Amino acid sequence: MDIHEILSALTRSKRSAWPRETALLLLYCLCCSALFAQTAKPDLVLHNALVITMNPNQPNAEAGAIRGDRIIWVGSEEDSQRLFRGAAQSDLRGATLLPGIIDAHTHLFALGQSLLKLNLKDVAAPEEAVARVRQKAASTPAHEWIQGWGWDEGKWASHYPSNNELSLASPHNPVFLAGLHGFAAWANKQALELAGINKDTKDPENGKIVRDEKSGEPTGILLNHAQDLVAKRIPKITLDQTKQALEIAAMECVRNGLTSLHEAQVTPMMLDAYRALIRERRMPLRLYAMLDGADKVLVEDWLRRGPQIDPAHQLTIRAFKLFADGALGSRGASLLEPYSDAQQTKGVAITSGPDVYDLTHRALARGFQVCTHAIGDAANHSVLDAYERALRDSPASRDSRLRIEHAQVLAPEDIPRFAKLGIIASMQPVHCTSDMPWAENRLGPRRIKGAYAWCTVLETGAHVPFSSDFPGETLNPFYGIYAAITRQDPHGNPPDGWHPEQKVSLQQALRGYTVEAAYAEFEENTKGSIENGKLADFTVIDKDITKLQPRDILSIQVLKTFIGGKLAFARDAHAVLTSSTERTGRHVH
Ligand SMILES: [Zn+2]
Repeated sequence: MDIHEILSALTRSKRSAWPRETALLLLYCLCCSALFAQTAKPDLVLHNALVITMNPNQPNAEAGAIRGDRIIWVGSEEDSQRLFRGAAQSDLRGATLLPGIIDAHTHLFALGQSLLKLNLKDVAAPEEAVARVRQKAASTPAHEWIQGWGWDEGKWASHYPSNNELSLASPHNPVFLAGLHGFAAWANKQALELAGINKDTKDPENGKIVRDEKSGEPTGILLNHAQDLVAKRIPKITLDQTKQALEIAAMECVRNGLTSLHEAQVTPMMLDAYRALIRERRMPLRLYAMLDGADKVLVEDWLRRGPQIDPAHQLTIRAFKLFADGALGSRGASLLEPYSDAQQTKGVAITSGPDVYDLTHRALARGFQVCTHAIGDAANHSVLDAYERALRDSPASRDSRLRIEHAQVLAPEDIPRFAKLGIIASMQPVHCTSDMPWAENRLGPRRIKGAYAWCTVLETGAHVPFSSDFPGETLNPFYGIYAAITRQDPHGNPPDGWHPEQKVSLQQALRGYTVEAAYAEFEENTKGSIENGKLADFTVIDKDITKLQPRDILSIQVLKTFIGGKLAFARDAHAVLTSSTERTGRHVH
């Protein structure tokens, strides 16, 4: 009952001479209600929208009110106009308001670096990459490193290039071109020489220097840890450069409607940069950091300190990231049986089961979450075993929410273990549609049934947050939603979708990027849906996603991104201010 209803009830009560007790009671209600209205006066009312709340108790609405960084009211257009007359208004003109989209597995720093480096993401063949390096070398002082990023080590795995052309194109500069997924790099002769890599250099642990079959000379392709041999020769990036990379990447994220990220491998330098950017109000996004579990000093330091849960929900540090194996494309994913298209290999294990157990056991005791990258079925099996043992040996840790990042290829008997053990399967819809041209070659017809098997995992009752894993894939979340519901590439192939039985519903896809992603960072009471008391994080889009043909989801435009009630991005800044806002002279952030 609101004030107006109470007032009219009181008037009516006079006429009908209601008992005094009733009038007093009504008066009491009136006072309480007036008090509520006063404390709940919104800073901003978003209205004239289709609100998809992701709250099952009130799935749709037309307006919402914000006070500070929180949502204080969600309801109909009519009620919003009646209750909040005089408050600052933002007319969304029929746009669709979604809960702020959370990307549950990202590499913000790598995105920033990729925006600052030579971008090779769209090159179709090595010759094209070489041409870009040649062009870059022409304007780069001698001896300065040329760094590039984004050639597809999965696609090129069957015919890796050599360094000959690359070295000729850049005779005076060392060149290091990282692969799209971080599992291979392509270096020129100068770079190999600086790193002291020659015919006689042994492969490092968990790495491979690809060699010419006849001469035995290194070809310039370095797999997994062998990349470090060259990478460590590149001058270290400074704090200012790190901040610059993170800042431009964050702007790219808010333009794409993202409000929160789970950053999947955070170094001490990145932590310093995040903190500085937050202090300087240059970081609009909320960040959930997974600390680099391979950095022993960092791990010990944080195990001593314990988690840092930010009451302002800007930067929370309560997770470690481990790698159990590599990627499927470059045959670095660890499989139980040999690769179907390379019988001599089962891939590479990076962190062993006992090591995953050891860190998980210690992390649980200190209240940390562990997130382990596992692609191959052997890697997933070994991480599930390690987690199961650690959970059994840590009876105090009830709400552990251990995560497997990717959970890409699963043995059938391992699928129910996620739900059973409360382990989160953090999956990436676009990985499926990017990998589908070659994934079945690697795995064969039997194992492919347990690959990218979102529905099978969901049906067991497990939590499945969705994410992009950018910059390896696009950060546009609508490409992820499209991939999840169609299992088609952006051109609509294959016509029914690849292994179509694994397509999820739109509702499930949206949940993956909101409610489930919030759960995966222990924020389900604060984020993931539009309801009273939650953070005012919203993604405003131009079309009603529930009514679109799947292909049209790809052309959804983000109109605005709100984070904590503040406008972090507006496609058209002028559209934000309505006449009533202008009249009251209040500005929308
Ligand atoms: Zn990743």
